[in-house]
Order: sequence, then C-alpha cells, then structure tokens
Amino acid sequence: LPAVFSSELWIRRFADSARATEAQLTSLDQRVGDGDFGTNLALGTSAALARLDALTRPDDAAALDAAAAAFLDEVGGTSGPLFGLLLQSLATTVTPSGATAASLAEGVTDGLAAIRRVGDAAPGDKTLVDALTPAAEALRSASGSSRPDQALADAARAAWQGVRETARLRASMGRSSYLGERAEGIPDPGAVGVALLFASAADVVR
Ligand code: ADP
Ligand code: MG
Ligand code: MG
Repeated sequence: LPAVFSSELWIRRFADSARATEAQLTSLDQRVGDGDFGTNLALGTSAALARLDALTRPDDAAALDAAAAAFLDEVGGTSGPLFGLLLQSLATTVTPSGATAASLAEGVTDGLAAIRRVGDAAPGDKTLVDALTPAAEALRSASGSSRPDQALADAARAAWQGVRETARLRASMGRSSYLGERAEGIPDPGAVGVALLFASAADVVR
C-alpha cells in the first residue's frame, strides 16, 4: 500500500489547528474542567514543532516519536501523556515508507488500548476515549480501502460524532466528573482535541 501522507505534515497541521482553537478549547475546559486544556494542547504541539525543527528530514517514525516525546515530557495535565501514548503507538506502527490506512488503523487501535490501560476510562465516561473509539472503528473497517482519503474522512466524521455524544453525557472520569449534571450539554474538550487530530489527518491525506 502506498503511504497516504507525511506524518510530519500531519503534526504540523495539527499544531496549526491547536493554535487556531486554543481559546475555544480553553473556554470548554473552563466549563467542565480547570481551563488548561487549550494551553496544554497548544503547548504539546508547539513543543512537537520545536523538536521537528531540530531534526533533519525525519522519517515518519522519527517525526511521530518526536511529537510523542514532546507531549510525554513537556505537557502536564491528564491529556499530555494520553496524546503522547497515541502518538507513540502511531510511531511504532507506521511503515518505513509512511502512514497507510492499515498502519493508522493499527496505531490508533493500539493507542486507544494504551490510553484505556493508563486512564481506565471506558466509552461513555465523557472523555477523549469517546472520540477515539469510533475513529479507531472507522479506520479498522476502512483499513483495506484503496481510498485512504475516504478512510480518514470517515475517521474524522466518526470522531466528531463521538464529540457530539460527549455533550449528552455526564462525566464519570476526570475533572468534569466533579460537576455531575452541570457538565451535561457541554462537549468534552479532550474529545474535541482528538477530533482535531483526525480532521488534520484528513486535511493532509493524498
Ligand atoms: P486536566 O484535567 O489534568 O487539567 P487536561 O485539561 O489536559 O487535563 O485534559 C482534560 C481531558 O483529558 C478531558 O477533557 C478528557 O478528555 C481527558 N481525560 C481526563 N481523564 C481521562 C481518563 N481517565 N481517560 C482518558 N481521558 C481522560
Ligand atoms: Mg484541564
Ligand atoms: Mg489541569
């Protein structure tokens, strides 16, 4: 299978969208958390850019590893290590010639499993797991597809659908669980961050 995009380009696009949505993500996390998710995501992606800029023509695995390390080493908060784990799984599964529909399905599935092991959240707990689970499913069912652009568009759509569902949920994990019914109607910020990651992939796919 041919590579579908440069992972470096994907991370750069994700950094652009994290910067563009930082204020909105901040205000979402002000309503259901402690208000730092926008900052955490912007910090992780800008640290990833700094690490990418320090590498000379990194291959896909090196680019994803650099981004994973940025989130794992430099972002506090719950979301930093969780995005780091996802990026690390993507780095491990990417093919030598780049990301394919199949490698993305495997990387996202493994990353979701790692996130669930560490964070102990299940689907329906109003966390980023609610965006990642449907995205992983969409990628798995399209992993043999000859249209990676459609696979990624499906994954992004599935993640946004998961985001919409978090708005109907009451949280049982993370800070928004302290709010009980007051968090109902408000989407989970981490889930929005995951949807932005897949939307960025869909933007750079060939
Ligand atoms: P913090 O709550 O430590 O300030 P962030 O603001 O960086 O962390 O990230 C908040 C996001 O982390 C939430 O919107 C949610 O999606 C995600 N999250 C919180 N707890 C968990 C968990 N146990 N498992 C998976 N995701 C979680
Ligand atoms: Mg927070
Ligand atoms: Mg915090």
